Formats: sequence, structure tokens, C-alpha cells
Amino acid sequence: MNYAELYQQSIDKPDAFWSEEAKLIDWHTPAVQVLDYSRPPFSRWFVGGKTNLCHNAVDRWLPTQADKPALIAVSTENPDGVPTEKIFSFRDLHAEVQRVAAMMLSLGVAKGDRVLLYMPMIPEATIAMLACARIGAIHSVVFGGFAANSLATRIDDATPKLIFSADAGSRNGKVIPYKPLLDEAIKFARHKPGHVVLVDRGLAPMNIEAGRDLDFATLRIQHMDAQVPVTWLDSTEVSYILYTSGTTGKPKGVQRDVGGYAVALASSMKRIFCGNPGETYFCTSDIGWVVGHSYIVYGPLIAGMATVMYEGLPVRPDAGIWWSLVEKYKITRMFSAPTAIRVLKKQPPELMRQHDLSSLRALYLAGEPLDQTTSEWIGGMLGIPVIDNYWQTESGWPILTIAKGVDDHPTRLGSPGLPMPGYRVKIVNESTGAVCGANEKGVVVIEGPLPPGFMQTVYGDDQRFLDTYWTEANGKQVYSSFDWGIRDADGYYFILGRTDDVINVAGHRLGTREIEESISSHSNVSEVAVVGVDDKLKGQVAVAFVIPKNAEAAATPESRQAFALEVMAVVDQQLGALARPAQVHVVSLLPKTRSGKLVRRAIQAICEGRDPGDVTTIEDPAALQQVRAALSGP
Ligand code: AMP
Repeated sequence: MNYAELYQQSIDKPDAFWSEEAKLIDWHTPAVQVLDYSRPPFSRWFVGGKTNLCHNAVDRWLPTQADKPALIAVSTENPDGVPTEKIFSFRDLHAEVQRVAAMMLSLGVAKGDRVLLYMPMIPEATIAMLACARIGAIHSVVFGGFAANSLATRIDDATPKLIFSADAGSRNGKVIPYKPLLDEAIKFARHKPGHVVLVDRGLAPMNIEAGRDLDFATLRIQHMDAQVPVTWLDSTEVSYILYTSGTTGKPKGVQRDVGGYAVALASSMKRIFCGNPGETYFCTSDIGWVVGHSYIVYGPLIAGMATVMYEGLPVRPDAGIWWSLVEKYKITRMFSAPTAIRVLKKQPPELMRQHDLSSLRALYLAGEPLDQTTSEWIGGMLGIPVIDNYWQTESGWPILTIAKGVDDHPTRLGSPGLPMPGYRVKIVNESTGAVCGANEKGVVVIEGPLPPGFMQTVYGDDQRFLDTYWTEANGKQVYSSFDWGIRDADGYYFILGRTDDVINVAGHRLGTREIEESISSHSNVSEVAVVGVDDKLKGQVAVAFVIPKNAEAAATPESRQAFALEVMAVVDQQLGALARPAQVHVVSLLPKTRSGKLVRRAIQAICEGRDPGDVTTIEDPAALQQVRAALSGP
């Protein structure tokens, strides 16, 4: 079957299509109903079926490849940057996961309890995720780069019984203590976890709170011989929550199921990533992001592949490091982000050329628009297909790409490709909801029912799921991606940026509202606007315009500079360095409508040297002049 036939079947006969795909995983009890769509737009996949993500990722492979590598954890975060590795076979991983599962059970964690992970890219993090999946605890991984406030919000929303963390992470050889941030977050949070289990890497001293804080290694030794059978879960039960930014200051908990997710990943590993048991997959993302959940941890392991988990920068000890891993572990498929490739493009090409990359069959890039220069450069260097794929935290797996595991459909520069099975993607007019014609710009929407693997709801808030994502277009209930796009005459889609106030920095989604709220907490900030501005390397960066309460902060270039640094430090401390604005400008007026709504679109246009367009809704046009002056002034 070619791509067009396969896709059409998934749309015309979804039950037949997905029950066939469901055979790619192991079921303890098969489903009695493929899809329950009796309460649209909530989809319940493989109803009545019982399965387990950890079983499919680990136990399932024991009979055929117990001694083959499963998890290859590499770190260059050592003082000298020289890589160290820890390799776990499927047998080792099985034993380690049971030890951690047993430690959780001994601490009273039961099925359905939430467990939060705030961890660096160390193997214990992947093991803890799998251990949660094994016993039916719901994991919520919080990106290690987030600071105390971001962490506290997530602790309050997920109300975890247990938190896994570590003494410290490391970036560019510099130790970044985690424990003080975690302590601060727990202090801020209304909810208090019962226990905190800490991996002590010997990197930073820790203040231990007796009774609450426990040592990972000590607990592990108590459970060396543990045998913890998998808990068979209903397909529609919750596997994890992952928070993502939106247009409000409060991140949304994207909630995912068990069976639908397992099937979607197994299907994508076959149809898109062409992964075979015994081969090695390398996804350069972080377990704190959705890409890490799907394609560092669950996807490759469910496909019986070894997965490389990498802690470190792509340019340390030098920019050849990733390519040396490809050579050493005979990596067949690699998944990264355009920003990382742009970083590597600036480095001497010999660092790549000196490695034998003949094992690598394709490079997959996602998370942000893939520009032509980057795509052509890396494609030329590697001589293999470079495959863009478009998706979101909400979807859990690619919405648009080229299914290389199905046929050799050509890619098209600038386009992530075509809809994947089960995705009824449409481009609709923003105001009328009518389906757009070829090459006509509109909003990218997906008609329900959403395919397996997609988010089930916003954790604990069905109404927010409905209110945030669903609208009616053309008489149908549709999910909005909040992306602009076009579809060309041949059916290829092109993504043209967000329709909302969400920005994308180096492939990571940030809500401008969240950054604004953080900046507003500075005692001398009266008002603030944050916009995303085009950046050659990172795709976009955040730029802030701030009105100080005390005009002295705006008096001289030096006072403005000092104030800007203070504002950056607040964001650093509360949200983490990723959210820190690249520039902070001091102004005394911001462009707003008469009803007081910030006109971020106009600020963004000026920052990017574009015409701000229709500005008649702006109450005081002098505000735009201030933005211009701030950008040009010292
Ligand atoms: P996140 O949920 O953080 O992964 O961010 C998802 C958003 O990133 C999407 O809504 C898009 O705006 C953007 N995005 C992801 N992948 C691509 C891609 N291949 N091309 C263009 N934009 C992308």
C-alpha cells in the first residue's frame, strides 16, 4: 500500500486501520471497541483493552534481545568534556526499572498517583519514567532548565505524591544545582509531596529535609532483587502529564493515555522513523519535552531499538561529538531540531567529515520551521534524506511529515509534508471557518476524532480543553493548532507561524504571558510587553518592553542597562534561562487598544523591521514611536 492509500484507509475505515496498527504492540487483553467517540471531541481509543507502556518498551524484548543494548546514556558534562557512557541492555533495564518501581511502591505510590520528575539527562530519569509506567503511576516530567516558579506551578497542578530529582545538572561543564530550586519550589507550592528521592551525583551539596528527602542509591540497594510485575492498565487510563505553555500565564497539563499512545508510537516508529529491533536511535532532545518522551524514551524502546540519551552540548568537547556517537553506536536514525543544526553549521565541517556516518539512514528535524539553507546544508553534508516533521506537545507524534516507512514520497523544501494516518488536517479561514483553497493562508485545524496518541484532555480540566482548543468550522468540531498554514495544490502543507502569543525559541514553546507575568513581579515594573522576534540562530527570541514605576530607571543609558539586567535576572530565577528575554527595552508607553489590550503584533513587526500594518486600533500612536526609539537608542 502506498502513502495515499494508507492515509485514505485511516480516514475512511479508522476502526480497521487502527485495529491493524494495534497489533504492533502487546496487549494483555485486546480492545472490544477501537474508538469510543460518544462524547465528542473526547476520543477514547482501544476501549476495553489492557496494556502497559513499560511492558512494551522493556519486558516484551526480553525473549529476543535481552542482552542487546536498550539505553545508551552518554554524558559530556564532565569537567573535560570527554564522553562517559553507561549502557543498559534490555535485561539490565528490566532489573533497574523493577528496583525503582519497588522503591516507589515501598513509599506508598499507587496506581493513579502522580510522580514528578525534575531531573537532568541521566539514566535514572528514563528508568523512573518507565518505572512509573510499570506500576500505573502518572509521571510528569518538568524540564530541568525551569526555575522555581515554573516548577511550583506544576507541583500545584499535578499534586505529586513523590518527586524524583538530583543534586545537580550540568551545562557546558558548569554545575547547576537543582536541589535549592526544588526546595524553593516546594516552599512556594501549596501542595507538598510526601517524599523526594534524590540522585546524588556528587556535584553539589544538598540540604536534606529529614523524613521527606531520601537517597536514590540507598533505596535502590534495598530493592536489588525486586520483582515487580507490570500493572495492566486500561488503554484509556492516564500515562503521563506534560505541561506546555499557552496564551495564559498558567501552563496546561497535556494528559495522555496508555494504549492509544503506545499504538501511535509503534505505528510512527514503523511508518515514519523506519525503526527496526536491534538498531540504534538517537534523539537529541531532552526528556523534559514531548519529543524526549516520545522519541528518547518510549518510541525507540517500543520498537525494540537501543536509544541514545545524551547529556551535554552539541559542541562540547567539539562539534564532532554527535557524529562520533553516530559512528560509535552505528546509529541508524537521528532526530534533532533545526536550531541545533544551525549551531553545527557554524563549526568546521571536518568535525563531521572525519566520522564514518554510513550507518545513518535519515535525519528527522522538528520543533520549529526548517529553513531551506539549513535543510540543504545538512542534507548535502550527510547525503541522506532530511525529514521535517510538524507536531506539538498536544499531538505526541508527527501530524505532518513524509512517511518514509511507507513509500518514497518526495519531500518538498519548506514543507513538513503531508498528514499522517488518522489526522484530518484542514486549513480554514480564521473568521468564517470555510476551508481555504490551494495556497490560501488560514489556520491549521484538525477535525475530530483525533487519532490515537493525541492528548486526551487538559489534566483535571475538561472544560479548559474544550475552551482552549475546540471551535466549529464548516459545521464540524475542529481542534485548532494555533498555527497559520497553507496547503499547496499537491497537498503539501506549509507552516507559517503561530496565531497566538506563543513564541518558539530554539524549538521550545514559551508563552509571552508567562514571561510578562514573571517580569511584572519585579517591584519596579509597572507594565510590560513581551514579543517573539526573528532570530537567525534560534528561530525566535523573546524581546521585552518595560515601563518602570520609578522613572529614574529610564533616566540614563546606564540606569536602563542596569534595570534591563535586573529584569532578565528575575526571569532567570523564576522561569529559567530559556525564557530570559534577549533584550529588555525601557519605555514609558506601550501600544494598546482603547480597551487596554496590548497590540503585540505591531511591536513584533517593528522589531523585525516590518511595517506594523493597520495601527488605527492603537490608542496612542506615540507608543509605536517609543518602541522604534528604544530599538535604535543606546
Ligand atoms: P511544542 O508543543 O513546544 O513542540 O511546539 C509546537 C509548535 O512548534 C507548533 O505549534 C509549531 O508552531 C512549531 N513547530 C513544531 N514543529 C514544526 C515544524 N516542523 N515546522 C514549523 N513549525 C513547527
